[in-house]
Amino acid sequence: MIMDSKLKRRDFLHRVGMVGSGIALSGIPKFSLGSWHDGKPAVLGGQKAYTGSVISWPIYDNREGQALQSVLNSSQWGRLTGSVTAQFEREYAELLGVGHALGVSSGTSALTAIMGALDVGPGDEVIIPVYTFIATYNVVVLNHALPIFVDTDLESSQIDATKVDAAITGNTRAMMPVHLGGTPVDLDKFAEISQRTGIPIVEDACQAHMAEFRGKKVGNHGLAGAFSFQSSKNLNCGEGGAVVTNDANFFRACTSFHHQVQEGIDKSYRDRVGTRSTNLRITEFQSSLLLAQMTRLEDQVRRRQENALYLDSMLKDIPGIVPAKLYEGTTRSAYHIYMFRYLKEHFDGLSRDQFIKALAAEGLACSPGYGPMNKSEYVQALATNKHYLKIYGKRRMKQWLERNECPQNDILTGEQAAWFMQNMLLGTRRDMEQIAEAVKRIQQYASEIKKAI
Ligand SMILES: *Cc1c(COP(=O)(O)O)cnc(C)c1O
Repeated sequence: MIMDSKLKRRDFLHRVGMVGSGIALSGIPKFSLGSWHDGKPAVLGGQKAYTGSVISWPIYDNREGQALQSVLNSSQWGRLTGSVTAQFEREYAELLGVGHALGVSSGTSALTAIMGALDVGPGDEVIIPVYTFIATYNVVVLNHALPIFVDTDLESSQIDATKVDAAITGNTRAMMPVHLGGTPVDLDKFAEISQRTGIPIVEDACQAHMAEFRGKKVGNHGLAGAFSFQSSKNLNCGEGGAVVTNDANFFRACTSFHHQVQEGIDKSYRDRVGTRSTNLRITEFQSSLLLAQMTRLEDQVRRRQENALYLDSMLKDIPGIVPAKLYEGTTRSAYHIYMFRYLKEHFDGLSRDQFIKALAAEGLACSPGYGPMNKSEYVQALATNKHYLKIYGKRRMKQWLERNECPQNDILTGEQAAWFMQNMLLGTRRDMEQIAEAVKRIQQYASEIKKAI
């Protein structure tokens, strides 16, 4: 937790205070800085390259306090009697330039409502990336549909859109690309496939608030999009989510599905959703927090983007560090995650784990990202699940298991992927310079580090 005033004070201290590695980066030889700062990595006993403190998440102040207090005092804590959720939905739809937004209880709920309104069920297939958070997979399996994995494009860490065609069958009900890390997938390619095949695009935009492709916000490029407002996400109310769509009928179906069919069922709803629905409602407390957090959103999005692009410009010159590619047409990434690849052959064979440890010693948290989902015990158990065997048969489930091979993703998850999280991008330009400096030091001393840890 950090108050706005603290944030400002910290920025100020950064600007006026320390000069150390700023000078080092501007080309003056390191020895001129004195022996305390000899460029040795912290893991070998040198000074930490990163002298700031990463901004904690979430950021809030009295605005959030007042918003919550006001809902409390109103005694209208649920959306059925309150008006705050409706206000959030109007403002979120407007912010995204989309026809309709539906607040729900989580990102998973948003995807569940979309699956429900599409009437995805046993026998259907849904195309998903293999490199994503497990929720993308879970919402398909909850409906007893078959999740069909598509391998990863190493250059972008996104679903490889050129491999989607090969995954389509007569049973494909939807394509569900994920804008991983907040960066848009190749939406041109998905649009082309969708137009040609008639298969709807459902965007899992749970990490991609305010990201844009060809000037249009993501979530807005297919039949519907899902957002998450879970604690770690760039727009956060603890738990929460939203469905967005430009299709009024589909919106009505999602609304009814998420609210025990209380919006009524006409024939088109029955035809579309069948006879299922549930409760996925958001509370007024969540919506009030979201409205307050939205007053900060655009500034934060801009700050992350500026810092990410600056970091790109420094890291791309370091051999063996490859920032994730943005597809042509990307006008903005939300940078929920700053994704890059670490190629150990440029670091004297220092393993990714050792690299991450060395970064931690510099004061920088770096994650190896998701594991290979298709190879997890949890996912593989689907092939022998009794319901799946009943619906699809033994042969088909065996084929499913074999088809799940994703060699590019194995390379990425096994040894290359490295992530910085979004709050690291809320710092100053100096913070970014220090990140680059830390990586350079580790590279310079890689063979020594390899022996030492
Ligand atoms: C966070 C997330 C979800 C699920 O959102 P919750 O709000 O945690 O339910 C789904 N997909 C992706 C890609 C996510 O990152």
